Amino acid sequence: MPCETKLEAIARDLRKTARYFREGWNNNALQAFIRDGGCCAYCGKLLLDTYGVSKTATVDHLLPRCTYPERGWNVDNLVPACATCNCIKLDYDPSDKGGRELEITPEVRLNLVHKAKAEIDRISKARVSEDDEYWEREFQIARPLFQEAVAKYLKFKECASAV
Ligand SMILES: [Zn+2]
Repeated sequence: MPCETKLEAIARDLRKTARYFREGWNNNALQAFIRDGGCCAYCGKLLLDTYGVSKTATVDHLLPRCTYPERGWNVDNLVPACATCNCIKLDYDPSDKGGRELEITPEVRLNLVHKAKAEIDRISKARVSEDDEYWEREFQIARPLFQEAVAKYLKFKECASAV
């Protein structure tokens, strides 16, 4: 039995026995989660270990749906993703527009995941450092104003006690 057929059968059985997956999950997404052990493909976070985290589990279309609508919900093109990683990746195409004819074998999927992961890391680092620079600039403006405020209050207290 090929792996794909077995995966399908295992997912079907799981949906039969667990209402959580039967009622709340897309069948193909569930297959991708079983295949990848339920971890976010990009940051490795375990998504199906605790209930709270499981509520933010999403499935990512590795080759984005908007560019490759013909891939639909093919299991080959789906990977588990935490909401954070998925929101950063969005419609990024790790195949650089070469995904039309691509056959997504496990090796190809791994390469695409690595490429997307690098892009996610790059974007989140850039966001953090932009954020850092922004707050440092604002802090430099705020610091003398804070000192002024302290001085103003001290002066007020002095005057008040002199009365
Ligand atoms: Zn993640």
